[in-house]
Amino acid sequence: MIIVAKSGITESELVRLREELASLGFASHVRRQSQRVLVGCLGGDGGGGSAGADCIRTLPNVESVVPSSHPLLLAARALGPADHTSVVKIGPTCTVGDRQLLIIAGPCSVEGQAMLNDVASAVRDAGATALRGGVFKPRTSPYAFQGLGTAGLDMLAVTRAKTGLPIVSEVMDPRQVDLMSRYVDVLQVGARNMQNFSLLAEVGRSAKPVLLKRGPSATIREFLLAAEHILAQGNSDVILCERGIRTFETATRNTLDVSAVPVLKEQSHLPVIVDPSHACGRTSLVIPLARAAVAAGADGLMVEVHPSPETAQSDGEQSLRPAQFATLMRELRLVARAVRRDVPRKTLRRRAWKEPACAVV
Ligand code: PEP
Ligand code: MN
Repeated sequence: MIIVAKSGITESELVRLREELASLGFASHVRRQSQRVLVGCLGGDGGGGSAGADCIRTLPNVESVVPSSHPLLLAARALGPADHTSVVKIGPTCTVGDRQLLIIAGPCSVEGQAMLNDVASAVRDAGATALRGGVFKPRTSPYAFQGLGTAGLDMLAVTRAKTGLPIVSEVMDPRQVDLMSRYVDVLQVGARNMQNFSLLAEVGRSAKPVLLKRGPSATIREFLLAAEHILAQGNSDVILCERGIRTFETATRNTLDVSAVPVLKEQSHLPVIVDPSHACGRTSLVIPLARAAVAAGADGLMVEVHPSPETAQSDGEQSLRPAQFATLMRELRLVARAVRRDVPRKTLRRRAWKEPACAVV
């Protein structure tokens, strides 16, 4: 169930309320939404029946209680206004969940400093607001390129200092979270790791925002519960990413579930972005799917861009060239305007990161 605390509740009153809940056998989690403090709580029976609600209603500093047997506490839209999306801050200048779309672009894998600098400048000039680049790569084959590892992290830090673009990169293992958190601005949890619960818990303890990709065979309920694992550890900065699911269709690499965007928005306050590149697996389909995602209400996109896709170490077949990415950004403006969103222009100033974030330790 969800408890709405009395307005103006102090920190110590909140601690006391949570102690009382604990003594009644309820686990509680706090969510701050605009001016309100919401306390999600689950009883020993795993639900939120009306008997528990009646008892909780009598506690000090409780304004109201919404009984719910919904398994989501912190990810749930719950009491928020229908169109409320939580805004997640990324680095010093970038956000997602507000009117301006988050546009993450860059190569599937970091392959070298020069190519990374070139792609980053090109996508920034076209309006991208964050740079992607994998250094720990989840590859189906153990013989395929596995990423540059920590050397790639140093390259990302150098490019960030040059371009001002915040960095999004995938973390594959709980043991990498600490190191990656010192380099990147967003920890990406890949589709294959969506239900790696120890990884979810570890990124949940990090102070960095988490981009959680939907598992190829995950239902929306499982996807949101995976987000709940991160939120339950105290990290409230979770961004959901629909990246296509496995279906019987073989014409595309995956099937982009466009309906997931409004469904997720109906059920959760978390920002939702779409990765059309992994969804379709083919360059020619990326632009139309990106337009569809924005039209469906996505808060942003993640797009793979490579200067010479034919020589890419991974996912060249679905990568846009920088010029194609610039076309996408131009075309998106019209779609975005129709749904009252803005596509960023090249507005980022170089700031904030003068040196590589830190040396490898
Ligand atoms: C990626 O972003 O490069 C990636 C591997 O994505 P996914 O986890 O969606 O397959
Ligand atoms: Mn990729």
